[in-house]
Amino acid sequence: MQRFENQHQQAFKAIVPSERFSVGESNLDLHRQDISPFKAPRPAGIIWPTSTEEVSRILGYCHQAAIAVTAWGAGTSTEGNPVPIHGGLVMDFTHMDQVLAVRPHDLQADVQPGVTRKNLNRRLGQHGLFFPPDPGADATIGGMIANNASGVQTVKYGATRDYVLRLTVVLADGRVIQTGTRAPKSSSGYDLTRLFVGSEGTLGIVTEATLKLAGRPSHHLVTTVVFDELAAASEAVALLMGSGLQPAALELLPPALIRLMNREQGLGLPEQPALFCEFHGISDSMLVETAALARELCEDCGAVAFRSGVQEAERQALWRARHEAWETIHRAHPGHQTIIVDAAVPISHYPEMITFAQQLVDQNQVAGYVFGHAGDGNLHVVMPGDPVDEKQWQVLESINERIVTRAIELGGTCTGEHGVGIGKRRFMPLEHGEAYGLMRSIKNLLDPKGILNPGKMFLD
Ligand SMILES: Cc1cc2nc3c(=O)[nH]c(=O)nc-3n(C[C@H](O)[C@H](O)[C@H](O)COP(=O)(O)OP(=O)(O)OC[C@H]3O[C@@H](n4cnc5c(N)ncnc54)[C@H](O)[C@@H]3O)c2cc1C
Repeated sequence: MQRFENQHQQAFKAIVPSERFSVGESNLDLHRQDISPFKAPRPAGIIWPTSTEEVSRILGYCHQAAIAVTAWGAGTSTEGNPVPIHGGLVMDFTHMDQVLAVRPHDLQADVQPGVTRKNLNRRLGQHGLFFPPDPGADATIGGMIANNASGVQTVKYGATRDYVLRLTVVLADGRVIQTGTRAPKSSSGYDLTRLFVGSEGTLGIVTEATLKLAGRPSHHLVTTVVFDELAAASEAVALLMGSGLQPAALELLPPALIRLMNREQGLGLPEQPALFCEFHGISDSMLVETAALARELCEDCGAVAFRSGVQEAERQALWRARHEAWETIHRAHPGHQTIIVDAAVPISHYPEMITFAQQLVDQNQVAGYVFGHAGDGNLHVVMPGDPVDEKQWQVLESINERIVTRAIELGGTCTGEHGVGIGKRRFMPLEHGEAYGLMRSIKNLLDPKGILNPGKMFLD
């Protein structure tokens, strides 16, 4: 465990009141691990800023003293993204959680980074608006921007990247910049906003964001479609996506996961491969027509049961079960950690990837749940295991590696939405080639002393 020298502690307490800086063990312990198996030694201190000015002064000091600084949102990442493996200072945004302004006529909101997605959407509800990216977990907007998070509704509405218009960013040396504008579009210069989105707190710290919003859909319709084979379900995905029906969610689930969901949530679904789809529209009649066409397409791919128009309570239960998939798997394998594959491929390759992943899981006789945001070509394989059992863990790691490598060969990516963190760093050279070197040059330019979230994104 690192300890801050007294002079550093005094410097931080001169910037924030002493109750917003801690070296207490319980606070340090709360900032050592996200939901991944990666756990850091205790960092040297935690600081809770409340303004851009404080963040600027803290970074100015850390830059001059070469102290590592890792931003912390809600700590729900899956790849060790906020885990402070090089110690130093953790900057927790819990106290910067305000929705600063909602401009309903512009479909925009200004927010601080620590506001959570659910709190933001509660506030937006009164205006008939919402912020669509939905990672399931109640993540902070700062964490979602840093990871370019997305989720079940991305297939229709897009990822976090598509909803960020303007950022206030504090650079590693404490300088404050604004990127982007409040105009809905712009061709003005390099797109620095998008450079910071997805940069996992390695290039700068976001202290304010102007977000684009969407109107809440007035009508929804949920369908569950059952197949005999996982491959048939995944083939229906490309057909549905090419049909112009524009699903607002298109999720693939395997029998093993549905079994766990039935057991925990009493869903009563057939324990066979399934697609959960949701459609949004302006009237019930439009949605009924949409569902009829979706049914024809799914039956062409071998669907054996198609249920549409589930009632609101059941709709909520289905999506709750889907959002809690990781927790459900975790509870079914007590004491285990999980490796989570997050590869994404062009949707024409989705059936091949699903089959490949399921075969690897079966051949190696490990517990592995193959599912995903199928409409985005995004495949998750959640594999519970015990890292202490090195032989078993190695098998899981090699399955992860083979799936990611195959995805990259097919023109895909090692991470569709969770970010690189620690877990996916080793795939970056393969995925990006020469461009990975350019990323390193950008990092060196913006953070020459390497103080921002060190040990992430790049192999040390
Ligand atoms: C059950 C479960 C399901 C999930 N499902 C999904 C899913 O479907 N899709 C998906 O995309 N993700 C999913 N996730 C992962 C996670 O919720 C997202 O990655 C989310 O964006 C993390 O946000 P956070 O607030 O927890 O950030 P943290 O985990 O605390 O931090 C994430 C990264 O952001 C950086 N950071 C935080 N605040 C700032 C800031 N102000 N400025 C700069 N950098 C900052 C951190 O340093 C870190 O690198 C899931 C997680 C769980 C637990």
